[in-house]
Amino acid sequence: MADIIRLLPDNVANQIAAGEVVQRPASVVKELLENSVDAGATEVQLLASDSGKTLIQVSDNGKGMSETDARMALERHATSKIEKAEDIFAITTKGFRGEALASIAAVAKMNLRSRSAEAELGTELKVAATTVESQEFCQCPKGTSIKVQNLFYNIPARRNFLKSNQVELRHIIDEFERVAMAHPEVAFRLEHNGSELFNLPISSQRQRIVNIFGKKYNEKLVPVEEDTELIKLGGFVGKPEFAKKTRGEQFFFVNNRFIRNAYLHRAVQKAFEGLLLEDSHPSYFLFLELDPARIDVNIHPTKTEIKFEDERLIYSIIRTAIKHSLGQYNIAPSLDFEHDQQYAPNPSQREVEAPGVYVDPSFNPFQNRSSGPGASISGPASSPVNGPAGSFNPSASSHPLQSRESKEWESLLSQIPDLPEEASQNALLDSEQHKVVSYIQVGGKYLLKAHGEGLMLIHQARAHQRILFDKIMVSLNNQQVAAQQLLFPVQVSFSSGDYSEMQELLPTLREMGFDLDEFGGNELVVNGIPLYLENPDINQILNLLLEEYKNFNIQAKLELQEKMAAKMAKVAAMKVGTILEPEEMAHLVDELFACSAPYHSPEGRPTIINLALGDLDKTFS
Ligand code: ADP
Ligand code: MG
Repeated sequence: MADIIRLLPDNVANQIAAGEVVQRPASVVKELLENSVDAGATEVQLLASDSGKTLIQVSDNGKGMSETDARMALERHATSKIEKAEDIFAITTKGFRGEALASIAAVAKMNLRSRSAEAELGTELKVAATTVESQEFCQCPKGTSIKVQNLFYNIPARRNFLKSNQVELRHIIDEFERVAMAHPEVAFRLEHNGSELFNLPISSQRQRIVNIFGKKYNEKLVPVEEDTELIKLGGFVGKPEFAKKTRGEQFFFVNNRFIRNAYLHRAVQKAFEGLLLEDSHPSYFLFLELDPARIDVNIHPTKTEIKFEDERLIYSIIRTAIKHSLGQYNIAPSLDFEHDQQYAPNPSQREVEAPGVYVDPSFNPFQNRSSGPGASISGPASSPVNGPAGSFNPSASSHPLQSRESKEWESLLSQIPDLPEEASQNALLDSEQHKVVSYIQVGGKYLLKAHGEGLMLIHQARAHQRILFDKIMVSLNNQQVAAQQLLFPVQVSFSSGDYSEMQELLPTLREMGFDLDEFGGNELVVNGIPLYLENPDINQILNLLLEEYKNFNIQAKLELQEKMAAKMAKVAAMKVGTILEPEEMAHLVDELFACSAPYHSPEGRPTIINLALGDLDKTFS
């Protein structure tokens, strides 16, 4: 038989390879912007027409390319960024695979102009479908400008596959924002169909986020930072009260590269647990820096997924650092932080660090760091005089501003009784000896107390739910649930559909303190119930728990327990209208502040509201 295997011609091979890197106009945008950053540019401009379908042009003032390099750059596996295989594990640049320009050149018309600082004349290359049509000298500013026209003109199938202009533009903006967010030390501009969408001067990290997402973000951001031997974590999370119903702004950057990682995302969610309403999502802008040797960025062609060697540890650091930050900002007292030091490389060292509120002192909302009006970045004549570059550097750009003696801490601590356990045991028995703080009950619903210079309002039913929830979870974790036997066992019957689901739920119910058996004929007999259920309607409670179970499709055991515990807490908690004695009020509040997340009910609703004097003044104005 005749030999039939042959090597594919370059243009075909490149076209096939391009499929991995260039899926849509936004992929071109990402690769070109990253190349500009890698080239050390301080100004980068992106022009696009028709959502990048007809034109994408990226110009920068980076180091430029020599004549030969400009030609080489278009070859597949041609890169200046690594030399040996080992270099992949010490990557500090965005690119390293040497594929982007070759891939783009295979599926579009490309015009590349570049000049290095030393060269008097630049070089201009015209390429179409991998074929170099011409290379000539040209007059051009220092840096590189790459124009990509008529993407996929030679692959109609791919062109047809593109989405509407709106969708493709959204993708472009997403990529632009990700690169811009990771590099506040570079000025970026984006113009689409002749109108300017972004003009981002060099700024601090915080200001860059505000410039991208809008001024209102300024008050929403809480700084997060943690410096360990393994990673440096910096950035911001959005305050829980601004969490959105839709997945809002959620960004992880590792060594200034935007990545997706479901596991780390979960760490953030965990940190927000109990602080958010159901179905709302926190925003976050988190920057991790770690030794490139401890990650693998080469598992995905567009490098948005990476592997970490120490994923669990990083998870724990992220979760704890965010909890800490939220606590310091008086959003949730971080009572458990001191104990949550699984990752501390050296515990004694950590103790010395006074927790402080960290701010970014370089941030000044009234200061615009750009060179002047418009911050034009088109040519060397208008180069901005770079101020102190606001590059992300947690240790250099921040310092502890306030210590435990600060006002924030004072008000936080004043809300927490000195000895919560003791207080909760003694308040009822020993109200003489234990000084009882007096509360006023309003509408059988709220407890009110002068607090600091303002007012503290507590939602009594939700407070009770939180207390019960914590107790249920503690006993579940210790597998020691206090139960009471019923004098007269109760029979509860179900429809056959419900009964089979009830059977699935039985182990969890038993763990929660129910003593129940199957009776046959779709009936259960209940012999005992958890101690905290006083005068319950057992039939109703079991049906409510079943309802919750049916609406809930994640089967993870812990989550199931939490859901059930939250429901039980709600059922068992005191109802609106319950009149409380002064000692009972004090006891309730003491117990609330001993909880893991006193500021929110298990369902994420507020339990405590502090009205500052200013708020009261406003009401009277
Ligand atoms: P990679 O970024 O993986 O090295 P690319 O195909 O994106 O691969 O680019 C190939 C090479 O071209 C780069 O390594 C770099 O040397 C050069 N290059 C690309 N874009 C620029 C630019 N804007 N300025 C200077 N050099 C560039
Ligand atoms: Mg590249």
